[in-house]
Parts: sequence; C-alpha cells; structure tokens
Amino acid sequence: MSVKENLDRINKEILEYKKEYNNSNVKLIAVSKFHSVEEILQAIEYGQTLFGENRVQEACSKFSLIKEKNINFDLHFIGQLQTNKVKDIIPYCSCIQSVDRLSVLYEIEKQCKKINKKINILFEYHTGEESKSGFKTEEEIFSILTKFINNEFFYIKPIGFMTMAPFTQDKILIHQSFSKLRNLKEKANRLFPTLSLNELSMGMSNDFNIAIEEGATMVRIGTSIFGERKN
Ligand SMILES: *Cc1c(COP(=O)(O)O)cnc(C)c1O
Repeated sequence: MSVKENLDRINKEILEYKKEYNNSNVKLIAVSKFHSVEEILQAIEYGQTLFGENRVQEACSKFSLIKEKNINFDLHFIGQLQTNKVKDIIPYCSCIQSVDRLSVLYEIEKQCKKINKKINILFEYHTGEESKSGFKTEEEIFSILTKFINNEFFYIKPIGFMTMAPFTQDKILIHQSFSKLRNLKEKANRLFPTLSLNELSMGMSNDFNIAIEEGATMVRIGTSIFGERKN
C-alpha cells in the first residue's frame, strides 16, 4: 500500500468514527519517525501537513531539509525531551506534546525567548502505558497551570493533554486510559476556565477508534500511514 492509499483509508476511517461517535473535531498527526524525507514529501503532496516526530536529532535533520525547500509543514514533537535538546527542536515545531516536568518548561520558555517564538504545549499524563513518561498526578499539572494563570510564562501556551494507552488488546483498559485523560481535561477547564485547554492527543494506529469515541482532538498515527518502521 502506498502512502497515498493509506492516507486516504485513514482519513476515511477518521471521518466515519467522527460521525459514529459525534466527535466533530479530530486532526490527524502523521507520525513520520523512522521514515524518510521522501515519504514525508509524498504525504505532503497528498495534503497531509501535520506531522509528529519523537527524536530531536532525526526530526531536525529531516525537517530542516523540508524547510530548505520552502515547503509548508506543521510539526509536533511527541517524544521524551531532554532539556539540552530543547533548543534544537524549538525552531522546527509549533507544539511540544510531551511536556512531562516543570524544568523542561523553563527551558522551553528560555529558548523561545531567545528566538522570539511562541509555542504550544500539551501536558503528557501517565494513564497506564508501560513507559514511565508523563506526569503521574493531576496535582502536579494543576500546580503548573497555576503558574500560567500567574503569567510566569510568556512564550508558552498550554492547549491541552496527551497520553499513550497501555500496550494491550484489552479494550476496557484502553477506554479507561483515554477517559482518564478526558476527565483531566474537564477538571482542568473547571479549575482554570481562562486557559483554553481544548486538545486531547490520544490514539495511535491500533486504538484511534477508541480515542475518537473518548473525545480525542488529535490522533497520532504512524504505522498505518507509512508502514512498519524501518529501524
Ligand atoms: C510512534 C508513536 C505514535 C504512532 O504509533 P503507531 O503505532 O506507529 O501509529 C504515536 N505516539 C507516539 C508518542 C509515538 O511515539
């Protein structure tokens, strides 16, 4: 299957799930990690402009080439982010979805200030996936949101939450994971009504139908678009 055929199929499926679950707002993030610039350019040619990458060096080397060609794209960073790599990724992405600690936010603010760039972020929340990334408690996230209310950050805009479901076939566990993220968003919006925390990034190739049912606004799909990863 070509990238075009895969994109057509996934977009069609997303449309069907949106109707079925009455969720009108779902964006597709094409996760291009481990795939080539050529494959990314194919996707762009077929109208996909929003991408996700999870490694700083790989993202920078590929998307700098695309930038040089003056081709428009929108990149979200979705992987674990080391503090010393923040400055490299900032110029290429509009959103960092995987904020999992306060110290990385201070570094993002510092590096954005240097190049006068505003950036969106999502809080990654640990809802039961096996990797250990993400905030473990709501309280940690709420205490950081209080800092946003107090205008401690100028360059960063928090727009919502991200999670990974556990690697399991158990649909009930996957539903629980995604509904936990939705509950967090609802609670955060009650506590901080002046922030617009509207985004829920959840769902991958194997579980995006459940994510759309649970209210996802962004699904992050790699394998079903680009094929198995070539390591
Ligand atoms: C790789 C990755 C995805 C995409 O996973 P697929 O199973 O290939 O669709 C989504 N989110 C994150 C954070 C990833 O690292």
